[in-house]
Amino acid sequence: MRVVFLDRDGVINEDRDDYVKNVSELKVFPWTPSAVRRLNDAGFDVYVVSNQQGVAKGIISEDDLLAMQSEIVRQVKSAGGRINGFYYCRHLASDKCSCRKPEPGMLKSAAMEHGIDLAGSYMIGDSERDIIAGKVVGCHTVLVLTGKLTLGDAEAFVDAPDYVACDLSAAVDYVIGAGS
Ligand SMILES: [Mg+2]
Ligand SMILES: [Zn+2]
Repeated sequence: MRVVFLDRDGVINEDRDDYVKNVSELKVFPWTPSAVRRLNDAGFDVYVVSNQQGVAKGIISEDDLLAMQSEIVRQVKSAGGRINGFYYCRHLASDKCSCRKPEPGMLKSAAMEHGIDLAGSYMIGDSERDIIAGKVVGCHTVLVLTGKLTLGDAEAFVDAPDYVACDLSAAVDYVIGAGS
C-alpha cells in the first residue's frame, strides 16, 4: 500500500504561534477536504502524523486533540474523502523520544501496522522536520508553503524536498501527476 502522510498544522489547517488548542481555533484550509479525496481517488490511503507537544505541556487536552481530529475527519468525509489514521507525538522536544519529527517513529509505526510501501509513499509537511522524517524512511517529500516557511527558507534546507508546493492542493496535483 502506497500512502500519503500529512503533517497537520500548516498543512491541513492554519498553524498559529500559540498552538492550535481546540476546535474553535482549528481553521481547516478550504481546499483540504477535496485534496484528501483526490488522493483517495488516486489510490492513496492518507495518514496524519503530527507533533503535539502542547499535550505534554498541558496546553492542549487529550479531549480537545481528539475533538479536533473528529472535526477534520468530518470535513474530509463531507467531501467524500477518508483519512485512515492519525498518529501523534505527545512528547516534549526535550523528551528525546523516537516519534517526534524529525524522528521517523510515527511513519515507521504506521508502516508496520498497515503494511505501507514507504518508498512509494509521500510525506507532505510545512517544516524541515517533516521533510527530514520523510527522507529518513525513504518517502518522497513535498513541502507546502501554507505554514511558517517561505520558498527562500526551503532553499536553505540541508536536504531539499522533492517538490515545493504553494498548498496541499498543489502538492496533491504533484503526487497524483508523479505517482501514477
Ligand atoms: Mg506543521
Ligand atoms: Zn514522541
